[in-house]
Amino acid sequence: MKPNERFLIIINPVGRAGYALKQGIWLLNRLHRMDVQHEAFVTKQPGHAERLVGQWIDRADVVVAVGGDGTVNEVINGMMNSGADGKRFAVFPAGTANDFARDVGIPLSPNAALQTMLGGKESKIDLLKVDGRYVAVTFGIGIDAEVAYKSFHSKRLRELAYWYNTFALLLKTSPPVSRLSIQMDNRQIEGEFLLTVVGNAGRYAKYVRILPDARMDDGIVNLVTIQTWSRLKGFLLGLLTLVGKHTLASGVSTASARELVIRCNQDVYAQMDGEAVMFQKGKELRVCVEPLALEVRTA
Ligand SMILES: [Mg+2]
Repeated sequence: MKPNERFLIIINPVGRAGYALKQGIWLLNRLHRMDVQHEAFVTKQPGHAERLVGQWIDRADVVVAVGGDGTVNEVINGMMNSGADGKRFAVFPAGTANDFARDVGIPLSPNAALQTMLGGKESKIDLLKVDGRYVAVTFGIGIDAEVAYKSFHSKRLRELAYWYNTFALLLKTSPPVSRLSIQMDNRQIEGEFLLTVVGNAGRYAKYVRILPDARMDDGIVNLVTIQTWSRLKGFLLGLLTLVGKHTLASGVSTASARELVIRCNQDVYAQMDGEAVMFQKGKELRVCVEPLALEVRTA
């Protein structure tokens, strides 16, 4: 740890059905005993983490998100919108999936996460900007978002609900599709997609390596689209994504670009770092990369 470094700790108490609050208390006890300068806040509702960061970032050198990917997303937006220059971001993973932590190389065990937060390496990463909002891992349109939306209400069973809803949707006779036009560099693709994911990193929903080629520091946004399929193919493809081999299947296309524009040709479900949002027909979403925009403490 650098001498006199000040930490701003943002705890999402509902992360992983209350596990994040327990982890947050454990962390604060440790910081107190180690005499680390810190201020801590517990969030009250969605959007609060972002506002707290905006309010208190001036008094901190390192901002720490205690929670999962939703908390990471809010804290990053708070940092970027209030000037992250010279500030570092750290994560104390306490969510269900912890995709960001896994992708960027932050250990999940509390002791190792604490050591990383206090004295890890500093790595610069890209952030995606989608429709004016920062995204750290993935932005998706289609069934992933519908699943996130439907699983949101079952807190304790969130992970189970996630898989239940995924396979329930994949096995429907006519799975829901989103009509989109995607414009990137010099090409355009248009069609009906079961799933469209743009991302900064490979993993989402813990086990799924949806964008196996994505890197967090290459200045590039990766894209995968999956077109509608039969039930059996849907099931097999679902399994292939677990090992990152789905990109070899027909109906699956990948691309990479510096910037792209997605036009929604109908109302769509979308997710940004796992948080569900909806966009209306006619909406144009600009996706770009802010290269090496954030400095992160990693192992
Ligand atoms: Mg990249």
